[in-house]
Amino acid sequence: MTQKAEVQLHRDGDLAVITINNPPVNTIDADMRAGLNACLDELEALSGVAAVLLRCEGSTFCSGADIGEFNGPPKEEEYRELFYRLENQVIPVVCAIHGLVLGGGLELALACHYRVAAPGTRCGLPEVTLGIIPGAGGTQRLPRLIGVQQSLELILSARPVPAEQGEKLGFIDAILDGDFAPAAINYTRELVAAGGKARPTGAMEVDATTATESILDDLKALAKERYPNQRAPATAIEAVSAAAKLPLHEGLLLEEKLVNETKLTTESKAAIHVFFAERASRHVPGMPDDVKVRTIGQAAIIGAGTMGGGIAICFANAGIPVKVVDINEEALERGLRVVDNTLESRVKRGRMTAEDKAQKMALITGTTDYNDLGNADVFIEAATENMDLKKKIFQSMEAVAKSDAILATNTSTLDIDELATAVARPEDVIGMHFFSPANVMPLLEVIRTKSTSPSVIKTVMNLAKPLRKTPVLSGVCYGFIGNRMMEGYAREAERMVLEGATPREVDTALVNWGMAMGILAVFDMAGVDVGVHVHRDNAHLYPPDPTYYQADVALFEAGRLGQKNGKGYYRYEKGDRTRYDDPVALEILNARAKELGVEQRDHSEQEIVERCLYPLLNEGFRILEEGIALRAADIDVVWTSGYGFPRYRGGPMFYAETIGLDTLLSGMRKYEDIFGPMHWQPANLLVELVEQKKTLSEWEAQREVSL
Ligand code: NAD
Repeated sequence: MTQKAEVQLHRDGDLAVITINNPPVNTIDADMRAGLNACLDELEALSGVAAVLLRCEGSTFCSGADIGEFNGPPKEEEYRELFYRLENQVIPVVCAIHGLVLGGGLELALACHYRVAAPGTRCGLPEVTLGIIPGAGGTQRLPRLIGVQQSLELILSARPVPAEQGEKLGFIDAILDGDFAPAAINYTRELVAAGGKARPTGAMEVDATTATESILDDLKALAKERYPNQRAPATAIEAVSAAAKLPLHEGLLLEEKLVNETKLTTESKAAIHVFFAERASRHVPGMPDDVKVRTIGQAAIIGAGTMGGGIAICFANAGIPVKVVDINEEALERGLRVVDNTLESRVKRGRMTAEDKAQKMALITGTTDYNDLGNADVFIEAATENMDLKKKIFQSMEAVAKSDAILATNTSTLDIDELATAVARPEDVIGMHFFSPANVMPLLEVIRTKSTSPSVIKTVMNLAKPLRKTPVLSGVCYGFIGNRMMEGYAREAERMVLEGATPREVDTALVNWGMAMGILAVFDMAGVDVGVHVHRDNAHLYPPDPTYYQADVALFEAGRLGQKNGKGYYRYEKGDRTRYDDPVALEILNARAKELGVEQRDHSEQEIVERCLYPLLNEGFRILEEGIALRAADIDVVWTSGYGFPRYRGGPMFYAETIGLDTLLSGMRKYEDIFGPMHWQPANLLVELVEQKKTLSEWEAQREVSL
């Protein structure tokens, strides 16, 4: 049962203290607003109150408004009236904030007269990342406190700022050391003693010098550059700059009109879809409630390489001791040194204290002896990608593992059903596919085999939380969800450079459409050789197409490995990651195209985007019809959190519905006519949905999902 928000008023001498308690993060919902209104009724009936202190119980002040309410009728008027009531109190209203104060939470604080913060508090208005703008007065009150320019910089950065910065900017009055609740009461009492008066934010003048034409032009340019293809940032500029011209009430009405316009855009629907999909992905449909979750108190990682080291950091960050194994002392030492350097660079950049680093490093220990791993609750194999090697490692893990320990692999390409046959307890075997760098990338694909027990699945899905990962459950297939969909996307990009498009043209079209990076630039970064080796090892799984991934092979054979040796699809200067066009690469690609008889053609941006994206989306339908992914939204999470797919386009399956399933199907058929059926056959599910005029959600609603 969800607990109702509790808002209570109590007297502390001549102060009225209003305390909000809505676990876990004090989200502002209808109950809380009703509770606040009731407390204000109570307050207004009291006499002898000199000041009000508004505070929250729990780990944070209000973390934001309830995003679930976006789907219902607009709530802006209700917020406006409630915040007016607070702001119009004739006695001082002090707001004590702590934790992570975002969106509606910060707007509530701005409607109070004074704001004090606990050390470590962070505040932000991240609405533009959801395709909307602050809608509870933030666009009108913040500029009255800190000016238009600084307000917009905060809104456009969408990142929370520390309380110290808030104090410097001028929206926080003081940072209070010591026990926060009594310190806030003392502050309020001292304020009254010093003759502090009510100080409504709405009555303040906006400093007009912060909203000149040239400042606004610069901000508009910044918004365009930072948020290509998105409207919300420009709308935020319109709303905030209006604060310099309009009285509060008119500004708030404009804000309401604009926020409601942004809620109707595809951009906001897409971003909000991803927001909820990320929260839903860790819950497995069909997972019985009574399935036991195993306790994970210790971990073991086999392989201290790129991935093993990153995964070890995730465990240390979660406070879980982890032992790392490698083949010999030298390999182990090298791996642990990389881990140390990674954490050291965080210390140097001020992201971590030296003490934190020492604590984390103390949780990570190395060994070359499996007998040291007997206490591990989870083993994660992250050794070199080779089936025979991994089978042997699994047997060594099994020999020392406790009877209820989980045996996981981080393989990217191997068949985990087959790997599980190496041990006598396949029900404990599962894939935990981290992404590189494992300590940074949020995505974790959790791969269940046909034998993995529900208890192991549930435990690993839950373990993602302390590891700070977004888990998505996948079945076993080549490439799982993400890399399997990547296959057609990358294949077409490579094929187009053989057809005469330049790497820059292909990458630019993809970036202009919204991908975080062009795929050929990604190959240069990851190493052209890495892709070539994967494709060579798995050639038996690929279609019989002599041009298949041949751009990579041509560059590799010419000694072009990407950024690591300064030449790949692009050219690089030493110590610099800037991509320069390289005629030598074009000659190599051209020569290979001639050898392979690849017909040359012109490529519009539209063709580049369609040819890369349509196979990607089409594969998503196959992944759904085969039950590899349980929900379309899970696929969207994989691509937005692991592959740089723009959140404002909602992920591949949301995007397929945005352009229309019939458009996707006719697009697939258009290219099937040109290039033949080998790569362009539409997925059965796509055809079925178009023929039956059904949406993906209608199809999902009729389907039973069980484990
Ligand atoms: P890596 O080459 O950086 O590290 C592999 C480590 O395993 C090396 O330190 C090696 O000495 C060690 N090793 C080899 N045999 C061993 C054995 N018998 N016992 C213990 N240790 C042994 O490789 P990586 O990039 O970290 O990849 C590891 C695994 O993670 C592979 O299965 C790979 O497919 C997968 N993966 C890699 C990435 C990536 O981007 N690098 C992403 C996801 C998954």
